[in-house]
Amino acid sequence: MKSANHFTLPTSVAASAPAIPTDLLIGDKCLPGTDKARIDVINPSTGETLGSVANASVADGLSAIDAAQNAAKAWAATAPRKRAELLRACYERIVANSEWLAQLISLENGKALSDAKGEVLYAAEFFRWYAEEAVRLEGELSVSPSGANRIVVMYQPIGISLLITPWNFPAAMATRKIAPALAAGCTCILKPAEETPLTAYAVAQIMLEAGIPPGVVNVITTKDPASVVRAMLHDGRIRKLSFTGSTEVGRLLLREAADTVINSSMELGGNAPFIVFDDANIADAIAGAMVAKMRNGGEACTAANRFYVQRGVYETFTQQLVAKMGAVKLGEGCSPDTGCGALINQAAVTKIESLVGDAVKRGARVVLGGQTPKGAGFFYPPTVLIDVQPGSEILKQEIFGPVAALVPFDSVEEVIELANDTEYGLVAYVYTNDLRKGLRVSEQLESGMIALNRGLVSDAAAPFGGVKQSGLGREGSHHGIREFTEAKYIATEW
Ligand code: NAD
Repeated sequence: MKSANHFTLPTSVAASAPAIPTDLLIGDKCLPGTDKARIDVINPSTGETLGSVANASVADGLSAIDAAQNAAKAWAATAPRKRAELLRACYERIVANSEWLAQLISLENGKALSDAKGEVLYAAEFFRWYAEEAVRLEGELSVSPSGANRIVVMYQPIGISLLITPWNFPAAMATRKIAPALAAGCTCILKPAEETPLTAYAVAQIMLEAGIPPGVVNVITTKDPASVVRAMLHDGRIRKLSFTGSTEVGRLLLREAADTVINSSMELGGNAPFIVFDDANIADAIAGAMVAKMRNGGEACTAANRFYVQRGVYETFTQQLVAKMGAVKLGEGCSPDTGCGALINQAAVTKIESLVGDAVKRGARVVLGGQTPKGAGFFYPPTVLIDVQPGSEILKQEIFGPVAALVPFDSVEEVIELANDTEYGLVAYVYTNDLRKGLRVSEQLESGMIALNRGLVSDAAAPFGGVKQSGLGREGSHHGIREFTEAKYIATEW
């Protein structure tokens, strides 16, 4: 596909990377955007500008809907096996291009290369999984209780889908939506975050090379998501909104979607408790804590936010966590020995400084880190706070950085109350060697996902999603494809 503007990874970073189009992908064209303005993409490790992408206006957003509509009928009519094979080809191409894709993610997001490599494989996995699900979208047949007729239920593509994604997993959050949408027979428009648009264009280019027909996936980037998305949601042709991002923006979009009654899935913020009981295997709990806290430098909706540690192991857990987190090297994402990369921008650093400052003012003690390093880039060091007091902002808000806030507790009842005392309910971590206790606690935690003696829940084959204000709907597994379908019921007799 011809694009007037491109981004090329520095050859010192990835010699084999292709040029990535940076104009809007609308149908079979790469367009510069009607207002010709550009959005700068910043390297968070240096604060320098990496390149730029096109800026979509309201008119461009509506053109993207035209393109998705033009492709919709043919895509819905494409045989499931064919759709599956195309998705499988996307999986293979993403894996084949994983080296430079990871470098690209690391450059524009700032995350450590090891995290970026993990993300690319996770992103690819959604194509593989939904290639398999595309041919298994089964309906239902039953006899009505009166015996008067048959009840036939079929699952049809819901229609044109608007997919809005955040910057923290620029590849995986996009493919977690695109793959099930396409598997279900929907065409879509992806609107990635302004901070990390290059990965989105790179993934789309790979999909087109894999044979996905033009118009099935469209990508627009904009500096003014509020106006462009509002116009698109009010156009009347979008039938699905799938959003991943903050709870604040999610609430706003639900209000917008209400006007045209658009089916909406929401993957929103989290405030995960990480509970360690006295009877836990501490080595396992520390290993899990390092994943739950430090994956992506803490910039994950699933990041452990509040560590509740039972008093009998509080000191041991603290010492071991400090040792492990203290050994993580802070640095530029692409440097091979970096364990914790840069945060996304200066606002993220400032927010963490303020959360740590508030916690300390209320009586918490800093036992590791806690000082913003001087120099270029948006860095905050691995930090451990102990004895964090109730009411501290750090226990209420998403930290979104490498800061662990520890609170001791005494009883099971007490920790369940503490863990549930939040508007969020995405994921909770529980460590205990008593499986019965672990399962009972899991049942009582108000959370869409529980990691029981595990530091990671993300898996393309599992239903990912939250309760309370962490979201609506599920992504991944067979649940994820249903989000892009409508059940059609046919009453008949024969
Ligand atoms: P954000 O809500 O600021 O932005 C997310 C997306 O929404 C971006 O594409 C942005 O351009 C767009 N957006 C912002 N304002 C908008 C508006 N008024 N109208 C339409 N679109 C708008 O979130 P972020 O800072 O990019 O990402 C971090 C957040 O995402 C965290 O809260 C994190 O927990 C959440 N997240 C959740 C999951 C999950 O699966 N539950 C996964 C990853 C991230």
